[in-house]
Parts: sequence; structure tokens; C-alpha cells
Amino acid sequence: MKKKEFKSSSKRLLDLMINSIYTNKEIFLRELLSNASDALDKLNFLSLTDASIEKDNLEIFIIPNKNERTLTIYDNGIGMSEEELEHNLGTIAESGSLKFKEENKDQKSAEIIGQFGVGFYSAFMVAKKIEVLSRRYGSENAYLWESTGPDGYSIKESKMDGYGTKIIIYLRDDTEDDDYGKYLDEHTIRSLVTKYSDYLRYPIKMEVENSKLKDGSTTEYETVKEIVTLNSMIPLWKKDKKDITDDEYNNFYTDKFMDYEKPLKVIHTSVEGTVSYKSLLFIPSHAPFDYYYKDYKKGLELYSNGVLIMDKCEDLIPDYYSFVKGLVDSPDLSLNISREMLQNDKHLIAMSKTIETKIHNELLDLLKTNFEEYKKFFSVFGSQIKYGVYNMYGMDKDKLKDLLIFYSFKKKDFITLEEYVNTMEQNQDNIYYASGETTDKIDMLPQVEQVKNKNFDILYLTDYLDEFVIDILGEFNGKKFKNVTDGSLDLDTDEEKDQIKKINEDNKQMLAYMKEALSDEVIDVRFTNKLVNHPVCLTTDGKISVEMQKVINAMPTDEKVNAKMILEINEKHPIANKLRDLYDNDREELKKYAKILYSTSRLIEGLSVENPTEVSNIICELLSNK
Ligand code: ADP
Repeated sequence: MKKKEFKSSSKRLLDLMINSIYTNKEIFLRELLSNASDALDKLNFLSLTDASIEKDNLEIFIIPNKNERTLTIYDNGIGMSEEELEHNLGTIAESGSLKFKEENKDQKSAEIIGQFGVGFYSAFMVAKKIEVLSRRYGSENAYLWESTGPDGYSIKESKMDGYGTKIIIYLRDDTEDDDYGKYLDEHTIRSLVTKYSDYLRYPIKMEVENSKLKDGSTTEYETVKEIVTLNSMIPLWKKDKKDITDDEYNNFYTDKFMDYEKPLKVIHTSVEGTVSYKSLLFIPSHAPFDYYYKDYKKGLELYSNGVLIMDKCEDLIPDYYSFVKGLVDSPDLSLNISREMLQNDKHLIAMSKTIETKIHNELLDLLKTNFEEYKKFFSVFGSQIKYGVYNMYGMDKDKLKDLLIFYSFKKKDFITLEEYVNTMEQNQDNIYYASGETTDKIDMLPQVEQVKNKNFDILYLTDYLDEFVIDILGEFNGKKFKNVTDGSLDLDTDEEKDQIKKINEDNKQMLAYMKEALSDEVIDVRFTNKLVNHPVCLTTDGKISVEMQKVINAMPTDEKVNAKMILEINEKHPIANKLRDLYDNDREELKKYAKILYSTSRLIEGLSVENPTEVSNIICELLSNK
């Protein structure tokens, strides 16, 4: 029989794992038991349509054999055909968790491997040889897969009574550091099953030896063998919250949802009423590894009385909570319901509403009770909430707006919109915001000076979605949003307004001349008294701000927009007099000044200069004349 090689990528990973410095080898049992349970699930699923399958007998056996130094995990589930053995166990990369690790191999691989296991192959951490004897349900033939590690495996025909799979682990020899023999001890096996696999729905059985009083005797004991079930089989979500430890929740999550980090928040609910259900939801502490892939699918596992009926029920959670992982179990759902019917099922609709409210309330609670953790959450999933606000013309904005946080200039930290409004100055009517690439860059914008001088807080928006969110919100608690770069900021007193109006009136022709020199790239050139130190700034008129223009024009569509820009010149700056002087004495020179001022105002906004060579030439010419 020819020995086959593992696929090369598999071989490397297998090597890495076997030799990993990882110490938590015990998780191999959890992995094998969970595979066995999956195999039973698959057969159980078939039994829904095939009455000849006896569901009551589905079970897992753990068989330690101290003489042979083997540990066997046996399940009478679906089993594997020859092709399946080849495909499933010949290529490590077939396993979902390893795919992930392959992509993340630069991160502390060993650590990740240990955290959530690698399925079947983790058994090599304790095995010097593994045999897999399997017979696919409905097939006459059994096959034996055999491997001693990375150098390959072989498959041959074999014999097996009944269907299912037997994984026979030949334990490694004990070393000074590692006691592999302990995995044959009843006590160790019991505690590992309780720790990791207690909730599995099928009985995990083992033959144990107990000493009992001999029949009729009061003093003489005898050793009897009996078969015991090691797991409680109560799914975690059906247990009472107070009986579940954090570790149990975390283990359940990392194991089931293939994460290597514990969740940020666990939401365990039990609802009794017109619709009854139990749900166990998790908010991951980082984006799921495939979250940004096109084929990422949101959804919760759906159970009917402990029996899985759907892997990813999308209708249970809205898109903006697509990062939520978990499951829902309800006795009110029929086992054989089709996907199409489920969509309109009134129980399901009712559940999805309460689940959404629950998630919302829990997030709000996190925001109020542990803001640091909430900020962590928002840095990872905030954009989902923002999409939710913005999507469908703001249909859901009222449901989500209290979950938004933005950076506050005054507080130098994130705040909610409610906090902003509650701490507004008495004479303040609007919620001010400014956008830019970074808070530092926003801080340097000339336009923020005037607002700061009034002691008004400013929200610094650095996410490209922010302005669209603000735009769709329009207002919060009756207060309108106002961009500090909006041409109609209107923070002046009546007196100041009259004064600047007069200045602009007096210089009307000069300003018109400058506008023309800029080939009408701006809709206006005017003097302003809102700048403190800066000579110029760009403001905009209308809905499209400079930042929005940048975002929209960067999108891969043909749709391009132009913000209506206004060049504003600080009337208190010496440049104002210089311009007036040039208008009277050297208009050609004034044109050049107009171009330079406009170019610098664009640079301040992070926009490019349309004709850099021309501007560079003008600047050098002016410098040479100095
Ligand atoms: P994963 O469980 O992450 O898919 P594994 O490496 O643990 O990866 O297993 C690979 C595949 O082998 C499984 O997806 C399953 O199809 C098959 N398999 C493993 N154990 C069993 C078993 N006891 N019975 C039937 N199929 C199994």
C-alpha cells in the first residue's frame, strides 16, 4: 500500500502544531468529541427524512486502553467514505480553523493554535500514531486511515460493525515534561469532558470500574464495570445563568465560533411569553476573521428545542449587528420549516425584534457602565452602526443614534451626542463639527478657531462615513448640526456682521477681480472676521463639504461632485492691505496673489493644487523679487 503525502501547506502546519511549544494539549479531546457530535448531528439530520434511522442510539464512546496505551473515540454517526477520509483528513487546509491560521500565520501562531484548536489534527499533539476506522452510513465498506504524523498517511479497506467512526490514538511515550498517560485515567477524562464538552447533545459514555458491596455481603466489595454518561447534555444556553461560569461561556464561544479571544460581551436571555426562546449571543472583541470577505454571512444558529434547524439564520439580526455571533433556541418553531417559510414566520419576526432590542440595550448599557470597553467595541464595529444610521435613507437612524460616539475637542475623548447637547453653552444653538483625516489636522483648520473662541465644543470627525451620518441625522434633540467650514456659520454679533458687510461692500470690485482671476473655481472671494491668526480659509456653501467631496470623488463610480467653495481672507491680517494696495497699483500681481492664496487654502483643506507648476513658478518669481 502506497503512503500518501499530506498537501504541502498541510504538512508545514502539521509540523508547526506537533512541535508547537503550546502546552494546552488537552484540548484535543474537545476537538474529537465535537467532531463526533457533528457526525451524529449529520446522521440525526438525515433521520428527519429517513425513518429507519434510530435516533435514540446516537452516542459517543470514550474507550481508554491502558495495556495498549490507546484512547479511542467512537461515534455511531454519519461516518466517512474512502473519498471523504482522503479529502477531510488528507488536507489540513480543509479545516476551517486552519484556513484562518494559515492566513494569520505571522501572528503568534502557536498561541492561536492553542486557543481554539485545530480540529482533528490537534490529536497529533498527544499521539504518535492515529488510526481512523470509518464506515459511512448506508455503505457496506469500511476504511482505515492511518498516519504517524507529517510524513504522510495511508488508507486501506477494512471491517467495521455498524456505522460511524473510531479514532484510535496511540499515545506518545511519557517524557519528563509531559505525562501523556494521564489521558487514560478516568478522572482526567471525566474532568476534561465536564470542562469542554458537557453541553454536547449526545451522551458521551465510558466504561468505568466501581467497587460495590457483593450481593448479600456487608463487608466484601467487588469491582464491577458499568457504563456511565459523562456529560450532562444540557446545552449551555438551557442552563441557569447563575450556574454558568465566565470560563464556560468563553470556552463555548471560542470553541463554537472559532475565535481565539474571549468575547467582549455575553448576552444570555430567556424569554417566556407569546413566543418563548432562549438566546445566547456574543459580541466579539475583534472583527471575525472573515468579516470583511465578500461571502461573510451574518446570522444566528437557530434551534428548535435543542435541535439545530439552521446554521445561519439571517433574519434574526439586522445588518448593522452582523458581527453578533450566537444562537437562538425556541420550542415554538417547527423542525421542518423551510427557509422561505421561516422568513414570514410570526414567531421568528417577534424574536428578531426582541433580539434587536436586547442587543441595543446591552450596547447602551456597556456605553454607560464601561465606556472604555465601549470605545473598544466602537473602534471595531462603530462603522457598522454608522452604516446602519446612514443606510436606507436613514430609516433606522432613530434606533441607533444613541449608540454613536464622536471625538470631542473639549473633552479630548469620545462623547455621545446626548452628552454634547447636555453640555452645550447657554448661547449655543448648534452642534458644531469639523472633519479631516486626523484630529491633529482638524485642530489646525483655520475655521475651528472662531468656534473655539466662543468656547463651543467641536466634534472632530475623522471617519469618512461620519459626515454622511451627520447629514442623514440632520439634528439631535432639536439641535442642528453645523460644519465649522460652512460658509453660513453665523457666529458673529450684529455689530460684527455690519462691520464685515461694509468691508466687503467697499472692496467689492477688488474681490470680484480676484474671483475672476481664479477662473471661477470659487463661487465667491470675500473678507472675513472669523479668522484669528490664519490669513485665509476655504468654506463651502450648500450640502457638500470639502470632506464629502473627497469621499464621494474617491469612490469608484462616475459620479463626481464639486463643493461650492468660497475663499475667505482674514481682514485683520496684513495680507488684506497688501491686496488693496495691489488692486490700486499692480493688478497683474494681484492675480498671482489670488492664485497663491487660493492654492494655500486648498492645501490647508488637504486638497491638491490643480496647477502646481504654475503656482510654484509664481511663488519663485515673487521670492526672487524680494
Ligand atoms: P473541522 O471540524 O474544523 O472541519 P477537522 O480537521 O476537525 O476540521 O475535521 C475535518 C473533517 O473531517 C470534518 O469537517 C468532518 O467532515 C470530518 N470528520 C472528522 N471527524 C469525523 C467523525 N468523527 N465523523 C465523521 N466525519 C468526521
